[in-house]
Amino acid sequence: MSSLKDRKEYKITLVKNCKLDRWRLQSIKTGTEDRQREKLKATLEYFGKLDLYPELEKQILETPNEIELSSDIERLAQQLKEDIPDYINENDNVKFQITELIFLPLPNADGYCLNQDTAGNQLDGYIVCLNEGLWICSQLLGKAFVLENMQGDFAEFKSSGSDCFELAISHFLTPRGSNANEVFFGHLPPQIDGAATAAQSSVAIIILQFVTLHEIGHIARGDFSLMNTYSFHIANSNKNEIEYSHIEQYWEAEYNADIFAIKSICEHSKADINRWANFITIWILFEWLIEVERKNGKPICNLHPPPSLRLKNLKTWMNINYPPASDALLYIEITHNIINNWKNP
Ligand SMILES: [Zn+2]
Repeated sequence: MSSLKDRKEYKITLVKNCKLDRWRLQSIKTGTEDRQREKLKATLEYFGKLDLYPELEKQILETPNEIELSSDIERLAQQLKEDIPDYINENDNVKFQITELIFLPLPNADGYCLNQDTAGNQLDGYIVCLNEGLWICSQLLGKAFVLENMQGDFAEFKSSGSDCFELAISHFLTPRGSNANEVFFGHLPPQIDGAATAAQSSVAIIILQFVTLHEIGHIARGDFSLMNTYSFHIANSNKNEIEYSHIEQYWEAEYNADIFAIKSICEHSKADINRWANFITIWILFEWLIEVERKNGKPICNLHPPPSLRLKNLKTWMNINYPPASDALLYIEITHNIINNWKNP
């Protein structure tokens, strides 16, 4: 039995074909300090947290002009680690507490979970690896969706999110540091920018929570044979994904992990309209994945069901468990049209 405490040592050597060289992500601070202040105020107002303004305002001056995103990603992992216990039951939380959540530059997956170390020894816990490129992609998807949904006072800023959706696809297949700056709205007045950024980050966070909860679903359900199979991702493993001829062997486990994730998110929401708003975010994630695979010309991972089938399964589950009322139906129709436009620009 190997201890999870060693995980930092093999963090980098853990993954086969790490794309580290292409993933040095930097973000450049844009706009004047006054603009940043106004934007921050609007973001906090969106979340109803204006009381945090005095403290966060100080950070505007302290933030360097160029930020290494890896520190942001560390913070993100920490935030997820703190948030997830609210979404799962006590039993599953016991398992989650012995799970390490790490973002890595994965070459061929959104995420997966392991229960062994690089030498093939059983761990005393679990490791959930998430693709750090997802952070950029989910923010680009959030931006694309927010641009299309500018309404009321914001209506004059409504524009097509098609280019942003395309960028999220190409970033997953060919990550570029420069895309890290494309997540910003930039062109909007600061108050609008602040609210739009807040809405965008809500989308991005739901996407990451869904992917994380999917992996926790495997842990909660004890999908050990699947975890063992996924060890082909480990750098010095002599296993190869191609060897798995029964590619449908784990589809049922994958569908169940998806349902675990959506169920956790829905049970955490207080009203059906919020459940559907969250589901729509996940729907966009799968439409993106469908396009990623289409552009890639082959599945990102042989062992997963096609994203179109996973999406269908999730939609069926939502319709049975939370039949959409008229407000949700309208939201669904708007999203349908947006996605159609993105796919057929
Ligand atoms: Zn899975």
